[in-house]
Amino acid sequence: MGGEHIPGAELAPNWLPAAGDVNELLPALWAHDVERNEHGELTISGVHVSELKQRFGTPLFVMSEDDFRSRARMFKDAFDAAFEDICGGVDVYYAGKSFLCTEVARWVDSEGLRLDTCSGGELAVATRAGLSGERLGLHGNNKSDAEINRALDMKLGRIVVDSLHELKRVEALASARNTTANVMLRLTPGVHAHTHESIATAHEDQKFGLSFIAEDPEEPGMSAAEAASRLAVDAESINFLGFHCHIGSQIFESEGFEIAARKLLAFTHKIQLTYGVTLPELDLGGGYGIAYTTVDKPRPADEVAQAMAAVVRETCAELGMSAPRISIEPGRAIVGSTTFTLYETGTLKTVQVEVPNADGVTAPRRYVSVDGGMSDNARPVLYDADYSAVVANRASQAIPAMSRVVGKHCESGDIVVRDVYLPNDVAAGDLLAVPGTGAYCWALASNYNYVPRPPVVAVKDGTARLIVRGETEDDLLARDLGA
Ligand SMILES: *Cc1c(COP(=O)(O)O)cnc(C)c1O
Repeated sequence: MGGEHIPGAELAPNWLPAAGDVNELLPALWAHDVERNEHGELTISGVHVSELKQRFGTPLFVMSEDDFRSRARMFKDAFDAAFEDICGGVDVYYAGKSFLCTEVARWVDSEGLRLDTCSGGELAVATRAGLSGERLGLHGNNKSDAEINRALDMKLGRIVVDSLHELKRVEALASARNTTANVMLRLTPGVHAHTHESIATAHEDQKFGLSFIAEDPEEPGMSAAEAASRLAVDAESINFLGFHCHIGSQIFESEGFEIAARKLLAFTHKIQLTYGVTLPELDLGGGYGIAYTTVDKPRPADEVAQAMAAVVRETCAELGMSAPRISIEPGRAIVGSTTFTLYETGTLKTVQVEVPNADGVTAPRRYVSVDGGMSDNARPVLYDADYSAVVANRASQAIPAMSRVVGKHCESGDIVVRDVYLPNDVAAGDLLAVPGTGAYCWALASNYNYVPRPPVVAVKDGTARLIVRGETEDDLLARDLGA
């Protein structure tokens, strides 16, 4: 393709590298067992995408079981090793909200991880999967009484309490049941993580957690965090485990995690001294970023673990306290890259677009429609998330063309991949694979336009099996009570 003009290259955003080999699979974006075979077709653990399409249809979430398990183990091993001398290892809670079904809950359990949930429905999945309550956590800024009671009945390892109001409710519900609630308090350490606004969660002006700064209206002179701590220490039906924070999602720099860890350790120390208690645990949340495009450069888990361990070790030494047992809650970093979405392409069109700041010069943008869209991946619409895509059923020798992959929904914002170089000969009936769709895609799926939600297939040792079936038209109509 040397020297040939790339159609639409003028429209490429600054971050998108110059068009290279459109057949290439960048290792950071894919499960480790995805490759192109000698005929140019994408395979996962040796299973051809054309076979997947034939057996399960499209759109289809295709997940590598080995890749999931090895990422889960990688986090567990990396953090255990880094924290061995500090607190004997780390409890890793997989954040189920990123992707959860009974099969995946069992993988999590069998790899020695615990499970973090944030609703009655997620607890129901954990129960169906046979997980024991003591290996579960429950989050949420507005838990219902039913959810709290369910957590108490399941003897949950931890309920992460989000407000003073909720702490009082948990206490009352636990004492009414003659039981004790295992409680952590979620604090907002005031760290503004460098990520998209709707997924940054530890700055002051948002809904989650107890503030260090804001005064509690019922306890003049005390912050919400202090008032809740005092109540948690005093309350008989509360087993107060310690503090929790989660500073956001898709974070690459470890600085935010480190500042949060320092603040929470110092606060733990203060509360321990004030009330003469020991708080045995500290949860530093999730949010580790993954690669969606070539510009994302996530740090390896062992590097992040070492950096955080160094901060905990140093801070505890400075404060003269022994370290609580540390836990973390990665979701995306475990499941995100394990999965790609397989689509079939349909309608194609090319439009002429004015090139920004180029005096009326235009360039072609190819629109490639697929048979899914914002109903199976809401992240581009919600967060302006960027993805990439490749033609999956064949390799192509054609030159690249600046393309936009769009869905089939009735909104012009229904974009799957905003900017990507696809081969110029992409045609209706090709298969397209979008990597990095394991986290917050299926989990956020909707039935917009009465489009059925896609199935999820797990592939392992050359075998593909359905772990969640796709919805049917009967499913779509099942709750419609009209005659
Ligand atoms: C969403 C969430 C996580 C997981 O975030 P990831 O970015 O998927 O790692 C962990 N803890 C809490 C409290 C969350 O809300």
